[in-house]
Amino acid sequence: MKVEIGQRHFCDLRIISAKFSPFLLRALSVTLVRVPPPVAVRGPIQRSCMGDLGFSTSPVLGMNKKAAIWIAVVGGILAITAPIVFSIYWAYKHNLSNQIEFTDSVASEVLRRSSEGVDQMDAIYTALLNAAEPDPCSPESIRLMGQLNLKSDQIQVVGYMKDNVFLCSAYGHHPVALGAPTFTTPVGTKVWASQELPILPGTKFLVMAPKGMGYTVVILPNTFLNVFTDDPHITVGLYSLSAQRVIVSRGAFEPQWLERLGTAQQVQFIDKENFVVIRRSSRLEFASFASQPVAKVHEGLYKTALVLVPIGVLASGLLALTVLHLARQQLSFPAVLKAALKRKEFTLNYQPVVDLQTGQWMGAEALIRWLRPTGDSVSPDVFIKAAEKAGLIKEITAQVMDMVGRDAYQLFTKYPDFHIAINLSAADLESRATIDGLAKLSRATGAGPGNLLVEATERGFMKADIANPILREIRGMGISVAIDDFGTGYSSLSYLETFELDCLKIDKSFVDTLGKDSATSQVVPHIIEMAKSLKLTMIAEGVETPAQAQYLREHGVQLAQGWLFARPMPFAELIASLSAAKALR
Ligand code: C2E
Ligand code: CA
Ligand code: CA
Repeated sequence: MKVEIGQRHFCDLRIISAKFSPFLLRALSVTLVRVPPPVAVRGPIQRSCMGDLGFSTSPVLGMNKKAAIWIAVVGGILAITAPIVFSIYWAYKHNLSNQIEFTDSVASEVLRRSSEGVDQMDAIYTALLNAAEPDPCSPESIRLMGQLNLKSDQIQVVGYMKDNVFLCSAYGHHPVALGAPTFTTPVGTKVWASQELPILPGTKFLVMAPKGMGYTVVILPNTFLNVFTDDPHITVGLYSLSAQRVIVSRGAFEPQWLERLGTAQQVQFIDKENFVVIRRSSRLEFASFASQPVAKVHEGLYKTALVLVPIGVLASGLLALTVLHLARQQLSFPAVLKAALKRKEFTLNYQPVVDLQTGQWMGAEALIRWLRPTGDSVSPDVFIKAAEKAGLIKEITAQVMDMVGRDAYQLFTKYPDFHIAINLSAADLESRATIDGLAKLSRATGAGPGNLLVEATERGFMKADIANPILREIRGMGISVAIDDFGTGYSSLSYLETFELDCLKIDKSFVDTLGKDSATSQVVPHIIEMAKSLKLTMIAEGVETPAQAQYLREHGVQLAQGWLFARPMPFAELIASLSAAKALR
C-alpha cells in the first residue's frame, strides 16, 4: 500500500476533542508530563559542544580561541601601558622643550638688554660730546647728565672721570679714586666690573669708560641679568668676545663653553649636568649665556608626570575595558552566528522520510548544518537554541528557505508526490516574513498542495493568538503543518485541540522506548490512537531498529525517519537516490 503524501493525503482535519475519550486525554496528559525531555544533542554531527564550539574559533577573524585571547591580552596590556608610557614620554619631551625654550629665552633677553644698554651708552656719549661743555663737571653738564640718566633705563648713572678718578655725576661732585680697571677692552674701554660708589654704598656697579672721552656710565649688573628668573640654579651672564672675559654674570661660567660656540650665532648643548645656551650678538662683540641643571628637566618631568600619569592610568583603564569588551563581543556566540550568517556558512542536509509499508522515500526533512571554516561542525541543537535566544533565528530560517529554494528548484514538477519539510521556530510563527518566505519557496520549487511541510514544536504554538492566523495562512497556501517532537512538551493535547494540523511527529524519545519495559513505552500506543482519531498523518522519528519499524508499521504509523532507513544527506545524494529508485520502478 502506498501512503500518499500531500495536502490531499495529510488529512485536513480540525481537532475535535469531543471525538477523543476524556479519560484517555487525562491519562495521556499524566503520562506525557512524566516523559523526560529528549536528549539535547543528537544526529551525526556531535563532535563539539557549547564550550568549544562557539568560542573555539572566531569566525570573524578566522583564528582560533587561543590566538584571539592572546590578541586580547596583548591588546589589553598595550592598552594599559601605552598611554602611561606615552604620557611620560610626552611629559619628558614637553619639559625638555620647555626648558630649552626657557634657557634660550633667558640668553636672548640678556643679549637684548645689553644691546639696548650699549645703544643707550652711545646716545649718552654722543649727547655729551655734542654739548661740548668746556668743563665736564659744570652745573650745566651735570644737569645734562641728569636728563640723560632719566632717559636711559639701562644706565643708572652718567658721570665723568679723569685718571681713574670718578669726579662727578648727575648726583653732583663726589670724587672717588677707582684704582686700576678690572680690564680694558681691545678698543680701549676701561671696565670696572664690581665697583662700589659713594652714591649707593654696599652696591657693586659695572663702570665703563670709553677711551679718551672721560665720560663714564655706571650700570647695575643685575639690570642685564634680571631676566624672568632669579632661580639660583640658573646661570646667566654676558661675555665680551673681544676681551675674552665675562662682563657680568650670575652663577659660574665655564670657559670651555665658548669653544662649542665657535663661529656659530647660537649653540645649545648639554655639558656635564647642565643644559647650556650661548647666543652671539649680531652687531656687538658680546655673547650671552644661560644654563640650568638637566636635573631641573627631571624635576619638571616629575611634576608633569604627577598630573599625566593618573590621566594615563585612567585612559588606559578605559582603553583596556574597551578592548576587553570588544574581545568579548567578538567572541560572543551571537557575534559568531551573525558572522556565519553573513559568510553563508550554513548548508542543508536532507533526511528521507519513508513509507513504512513500502520503504519508498516519500519526502525529506531539511536539516541545517554548520561547518565552520576551521573544520568544526556545530550541532543544530546547540546553535538553533542560541540563535533563538539571540533573536537571529528568523535570519537562519530565511537562509534555510533560500537554500531549499535553490536545491529543490522545480523539484516537484519531476517528483509530484515528494515533500520537503522545513523546521520553524517559535519566532517564525510570529512573523509574517515566514509567509512571504514560504510563498517564494513555493514558487521556486513549483510546489503543489502538500509538497511543502512545516514542522513546529510545541513551543511554537505557545502564543496561540499570533501563531494560529499565521499557521492558517500557511495551510491556506497548500503547505502542510506538522507538530514536531510531539509529547516532549507539557501541554501537547491542548495544542492539538487549538490548532489545525496535518501531521504529528512521534518524538525519538518515545520511539526509543518501543520494545522496552519502561513506563513511557506505554505512551506510543496512546499517541498513535490519538493521532488516528484526529486523522493526523504520523511520522515516527529516530527509528533505528527493524523491531521499532515493525511495531510502528503494525500499529498503523504511515511514515518514519531514522538511521535504519537513511541518515541526513546532501541534496545531490538525495536526488541521485530518488532518480535511481525511479529508474527501477
Ligand atoms: P539534527 O539534524 O542534529 O537536528 C537537531 C534539531 O535541530 C532538529 O530536531 C531541529 O529541532 C533543529 N533543527 C535542525 N535544522 C533546523 C532548521 O533548519 N531550523 C530550525 N528552526 N531548527 C532546525 P528535529 O527537527 O527533531 O530533527 C531530527 C533530528 O534527529 C535531526 O538532528 C536528525 O539528524 C536526528 N535523527 C534523525 N534520525 C535519527 C536516528 O535514527 N537516530 C538519531 N540519534 N538521530 C536521528
Ligand atoms: Ca523536525
Ligand atoms: Ca523532531
